[in-house]
Amino acid sequence: MKELLQNLINLLLPPRCLICGKTLGKNNGLCAQCFNKIKFISTPYCECCGRPFVSEAGLSFNKKALCGQCLHRSDKYIKMQRSAFIYDDFAKKLILDFKFYDKTVSAETLANMLFTAGRDIWQQKPDLLIPVPLHRLRLLTRRYNQSALLVKFLALKTGIAADYFSLRRKRNTIPQVKLSGASRRKNLRYAFNVHNSEAIKNKKVVLIDDVSTTGSTLRECAKTLQKAGAKEVFAVTLARTED
Ligand SMILES: [Zn+2]
Ligand SMILES: [Zn+2]
Repeated sequence: MKELLQNLINLLLPPRCLICGKTLGKNNGLCAQCFNKIKFISTPYCECCGRPFVSEAGLSFNKKALCGQCLHRSDKYIKMQRSAFIYDDFAKKLILDFKFYDKTVSAETLANMLFTAGRDIWQQKPDLLIPVPLHRLRLLTRRYNQSALLVKFLALKTGIAADYFSLRRKRNTIPQVKLSGASRRKNLRYAFNVHNSEAIKNKKVVLIDDVSTTGSTLRECAKTLQKAGAKEVFAVTLARTED
């Protein structure tokens, strides 16, 4: 019955590719051509921050390899981070441009990518998924928090509880994209607070966001959560910049 209904819906409203709008045979979100243009991050990558390593011929990476930044970083606010793909012009389009389709379909497709990207983190048995409560990419005026929508679908897929309210954005910050690294960190200082520390005390928390560029937003959120008593903080994002 459910299948019959889905077939009927597909007939009336054929599923379309989230990027190019081409009609699809089944409701999987992206056509093969668009899917192949996404630069998915695969091994080898940094065990800690998930940064992909450029593999050079003859050079082998062991499974627990760390990147230079993680080897030298003193703050460990984020225990482990993973991202699904590289943030390039194509990925930007995938994340920002939803004109052909309803956002529920795209959020579900994107949440499935987060699910695959975060497999190392799900093994750590986290307790909560928390969306980053701030949208840095305010190039478009949004009526919804896209990260919260991603969390909704990811919670269904992982069975991990979603917490939309404990982490709050305290003040308006200048959109991060307009600032350089140092001013980004300054801009974010004290930008977040924890509304209900009981909810996150001793919990393993996973922050969810769409894009990670310098990582300063995630780091600031993680710092705020740890100060409020979170046991460990992880992060999964759809995209990250190639650096
Ligand atoms: Zn397409
Ligand atoms: Zn690293």
